[in-house]
Amino acid sequence: MRTCHDCSQTESTGKEGQDMAAAARVVIVGSGIIGASTALACQDLGAEVTILDQGPLGGLASANSFGWINASFAETQAYFELRQEAVEAFRTLGQRLELQAHVIWPGTLWWEDAGQDFEAQFASLTLRGYAALRLDRDEIAAREPNLRECPDHALFTPMEGAAQAQSVAQTLLAHVGKRGGRLCAEQAVHALRPSAGGGYIVQTSTGDLPCDFVILATGAAAHRGLTGLGWTLPMANKRGMIVQTKPVQTRIHHILMTPDVHFRQNPDGSLVAGEIFSGDLDRSGDVPALAETVIARIRQKLRGQPDVQLAEVKLGERPVPLDGLPVVGAVPGAPRIFMAVMHSGVTLGPLVGQLLAEEILHGRSSPLLSSFRPARFV
Ligand SMILES: Cc1cc2nc3c(=O)[nH]c(=O)nc-3n(C[C@H](O)[C@H](O)[C@H](O)COP(=O)(O)OP(=O)(O)OC[C@H]3O[C@@H](n4cnc5c(N)ncnc54)[C@H](O)[C@@H]3O)c2cc1C
Repeated sequence: MRTCHDCSQTESTGKEGQDMAAAARVVIVGSGIIGASTALACQDLGAEVTILDQGPLGGLASANSFGWINASFAETQAYFELRQEAVEAFRTLGQRLELQAHVIWPGTLWWEDAGQDFEAQFASLTLRGYAALRLDRDEIAAREPNLRECPDHALFTPMEGAAQAQSVAQTLLAHVGKRGGRLCAEQAVHALRPSAGGGYIVQTSTGDLPCDFVILATGAAAHRGLTGLGWTLPMANKRGMIVQTKPVQTRIHHILMTPDVHFRQNPDGSLVAGEIFSGDLDRSGDVPALAETVIARIRQKLRGQPDVQLAEVKLGERPVPLDGLPVVGAVPGAPRIFMAVMHSGVTLGPLVGQLLAEEILHGRSSPLLSSFRPARFV
């Protein structure tokens, strides 16, 4: 893997502003799952890729994510279509890069809501043609023999999966690095300034980097903008908590979305649980106590109430654009600067990366992205 410690490259190569695809120089700011996916896709289309991150490679939200890959919840039809296509794109990428150590595809059992809300969710998925089955208690028990008590009904969405998103990002980056991409950790980008000919000079903490295109994949930091950008994305980030346990022998076979805890099992037996207290986690709350509550809820769910031990509590900032929907595409008023910022970035990363690379390097914009452009906030 080619990593750089000093990104300065002030010599102009004369390529700035040329209308090129094969040798376009693309700088991607942010190395989480969005930046990594986009870097891979740009490189696939022949671009010369540099990825810069102010911290270690692999991202921030991506390191603290539940990682559920799904299209089960989407406020609009356009968002559903994007998510559904994204689940497929993730599967395809997983096969191509052999991501099975970091991604599982067990499907989801969902019974977070009951009664009318449960029926409404089932009806909505069915109407959209999403693969969803309504299971009864016996069917659930047959699928999850280690659940102590099964609900009357659950929705089974068999196409869904879960990823250890930071590991996926790092694997993609390793691939990019092996093929000659530059991977630059601990290098903050402070500013962008236009260069002669229509490209940009990216000002980093270690020097200047000329390029043809800039892609901002800065996650929850997107609202801070950059000097020279002239525009910032309005955001309503939310804090979330993930609890990771030590490996447990008791096996669960699906992603389980229950009324009081969401959890799944990694290939090594460890459990990952998302706090169910959705929305913004109380920043002054008692995090260790909350983590213990989550552990107790998991234990309570499992046959024999095994000794589930806490390994790690992660607190992460969910990157959430102001209207809750993804933001992907050209930055208003800044030719050749693009951004990709979103929640559910684990689900969406591989697809968004591919669509953005196609748009930037081949000039083909996908109708799947038309509802999610940054310009809607101008
Ligand atoms: C608790 C929690 C649970 C979640 N659950 C799910 C889920 O189940 N399913 C799902 O699909 N999504 C989920 N998400 C959301 C998902 O994790 C994010 O949408 C996704 O990880 C965003 O990836 P990213 O690459 O945009 O951001 P990040 O992973 O945060 O990466 C952005 C990177 O940009 C770098 N950066 C920022 N500014 C600069 C700068 N000026 N210069 C250089 N580098 C910079 C940062 O250091 C960081 O590494 C969850 C998130 C959280 C926090």
